[in-house]
Amino acid sequence: MDSKMNDSKIIDGKILSSAIRKKIKKFGDELNKKTSKVPGLAVVLVGENPASRVYVKNKIEKTKEVGFNSIEHRLDHDVSEKQLLDLVDKLNEDKNVQGILVQLPLPKHINSDKVLDKIKPIKDVDGFHAQNVGKLWSGLNSLVPCTPLGCSIIIKSILPDLSGKHAVIIGRSNIVGKPMAALLLAMNATVTICHSRTKDLNSVCKEADILVAAVGIPEMVKANWIKKGAIIIDVGINRIEKNNKKILVGDVDYDECFDFCGKITPVPGGVGPMTIACLLLNTLLTAYTQFDEKAPDLSSFLE
Ligand code: NDP
Repeated sequence: MDSKMNDSKIIDGKILSSAIRKKIKKFGDELNKKTSKVPGLAVVLVGENPASRVYVKNKIEKTKEVGFNSIEHRLDHDVSEKQLLDLVDKLNEDKNVQGILVQLPLPKHINSDKVLDKIKPIKDVDGFHAQNVGKLWSGLNSLVPCTPLGCSIIIKSILPDLSGKHAVIIGRSNIVGKPMAALLLAMNATVTICHSRTKDLNSVCKEADILVAAVGIPEMVKANWIKKGAIIIDVGINRIEKNNKKILVGDVDYDECFDFCGKITPVPGGVGPMTIACLLLNTLLTAYTQFDEKAPDLSSFLE
């Protein structure tokens, strides 16, 4: 992968996300001058899942970098569901908290749906609450899940108009696949959603002008699945061992697909950094609402 790092085919999520975070800081500082208030993001981590700890650490660091308040709650793995729900209730009422993120996955004894449903929709910066999901599919203004929002910003930066384009998504999770489909539809693409029961997956993918892979299977998408010139958005983050080294790879076989695609996101350094930028974007956007100020248009963050 390294030999291809400078190629113009590579969509550098680090550069794009850094530009967005700079804008977020600028708008956040202006909002602070106007209201004397600072947006606050509460992150709740339950247990010791190593991947979750890394994600939370990154989110907290980036929250502080843009000048927002970071409120951290680390709970033991055996915390009861009621204790967690009580904490969410407290954060819902806290005027210093504009966004609440409960890091998933939660331990098995806790019902994640119940916890996500408890978060006030206006503070639901992950965009997972049923009210926000319904608004997204109805074309109403809502908080949108961060990873698909980041993917849509990447795609918009390459192809602003998707009229006449066919987008294929592999994966139908509530976190990535389904909201991604809603966003691509809103961008006028013709959308196909694939999943584990899809027949002839490779032939369906070969029809895609834009292919979004969100599966969780290392390097599943091969070169002969790709239409020449397609835009490939690789959401997967898989830890594997190669040549006795532990590395991160996506759901797309990057080396194989590189020569066939038009553009591709690397793993790491593609979608991942955009997810965090969009978490901060959601926090800022909802802070405007909660501080009774008019939020700038989304396009202001992308100029
Ligand atoms: P889920 O496990 O919730 O969903 C995976 C989806 O892939 C399901 O819809 C499943 O189908 C489908 N699938 C599984 N096997 C196949 C197959 N053989 N052929 C076709 N489809 C298949 O995962 P997530 O959506 O949460 O995450 C997907 C990937 O994205 C993971 O690698 C995750 O780590 C990564 N991720 C990355 C983020 C980032 O910031 N970059 C953020 C979130 C996730 P079915 O519904 O039929 O079971």
